[in-house]
Parts: sequence; C-alpha cells; structure tokens
Amino acid sequence: MNTTHISGTRRRLLTGAGAVGAGAALLLALDACAADSGGAAASETASATPEVPDLKGLETAEEIWDALLEGNQRWADGEPVHPGTDTDTREALVEGQAPRAAVFTCVDSRVAPELVFDTGVGDLMVTRTAANTFDPLVSESVSYGPAALEAPLLVVLGHQKCGAVTAAHDALAAADAGEEAEDHGYALPEIVASLTPAYEAARTESGDPVDAMIAANVLLTVQALKEHPNLAELVADGALTVVGAVYSLETGLVTEIAA
Ligand SMILES: [Zn+2]
Repeated sequence: MNTTHISGTRRRLLTGAGAVGAGAALLLALDACAADSGGAAASETASATPEVPDLKGLETAEEIWDALLEGNQRWADGEPVHPGTDTDTREALVEGQAPRAAVFTCVDSRVAPELVFDTGVGDLMVTRTAANTFDPLVSESVSYGPAALEAPLLVVLGHQKCGAVTAAHDALAAADAGEEAEDHGYALPEIVASLTPAYEAARTESGDPVDAMIAANVLLTVQALKEHPNLAELVADGALTVVGAVYSLETGLVTEIAA
C-alpha cells in the first residue's frame, strides 16, 4: 500500500456509537483532519505518478472505501486524476454497469461525490436529496445499487455547513422557543420533519448544534438504511457495509464517523 492509502486510513474515526456522542465525534473527526500530516506524503506519491486503483476491479467494501479515501485525498490536495472519464470507459459500460459503491448525500453543489472521491463514470451510484433526507421512495433508490447491482459499500455522506440542516435547526429551535420561524420566502416542511429526529438526538451535545445535528443525521440514516428491507439481509450476511462520513468544505476531506 502506498502512503496515500495510509493517510486515508488514518483519517477514519470509528465511534461505534449511536446518535449520542455524534457532535463530539464530528469535532474529533474534524480535528483529526486538521492534524493529518499525510498531505505532504500524498503529494510526494502523486508527483511520482501514483497508481490509481481501478475501482471496477475491487471486490471488498474495505478496499473500495480505502480507494475512495485515496481519491478524496487527491481531491483535497488539488491533484485529482479524473480516472475513468475517457471514451473507452464510457463505451465499455454501454452493455451494463457494476458500480462498486452507492453514495447517499446532499444536493449541495459543493459536494459532488464523483469529484470529491475522484472517481469515473460507472464507479458510483449516487442518490442526492437536501441533507440526505429520505423517505420510502428515496430509500428504494439508495438501496438499488447494493441490492440489484451488488455494490458492497454504501456511503452516507453529510457535509459541513449544510444549508438544509441549518434551516431545519433554526426552524425547530424557533418552535422550541415559541417564536415564529424566520420567513425565507420558501418552506421546507417535509425536510424539517425528516430532520427532527437528528435535532432531538443532537440536543444534548456540546459544541456547535448544527455540526452535531449533521453528524446525528448521518448516524441515524446509516442505522435506518441498515434496517431497510432491501438491505438488512445483505448487512447481516456481511455482503454490504454501510459507512457514515462527513465532508469538510474547508479541507476537502471526507472523514468516517460510523461503520
Ligand atoms: Zn447540504
């Protein structure tokens, strides 16, 4: 394994906890990002023409996740190689697809998974909704890659400064205080309702309440997807790993917060 791999692995933070502790976990995770000294090593590797693993040839969730974190490190270092974006790759996929990971994330224009993980066409099956909120319709889409196409990894990716989480937090906090929610000229009642469990879970956390809510939402979503009828058996059999992570707009790094 090269140095990029090592730095990617080191960024992981396994909490093994439920929503409780989510805020602290996020803060620790972001600290870990800041303290990561793998950038120089990764740059050194990149300048020597790094070997970029072909996601399409990877089998296990662990090696696929490691490859995604390596791609994320390239993105964060400003050295993406945009693998699998050529005509040959596009043409080779005409007859069928076998994405190695499903990613469920926010609609935020700054959090495009194929860019953030430096992947190519056919690598990721992506579902995006505001703050990765879901309902039965959306969860069927999220489950499609693992259930129908045998993708062994599902990543739930929250992100720093999520506008939808912030709006839901502010609306729920105003309701708690008996105040009128601020009128933005648009309404997100379904999203606010969907994020209410994360708001409740993050209530007792110290630190920034929106950061805590973002992490809690990821953890609750990971748990719910593990229990989805299309996925529960795959998870129980070890054929599917569901990972929760948070993306930092500031550093460009993805940090695992639950697996
Ligand atoms: Zn967002």
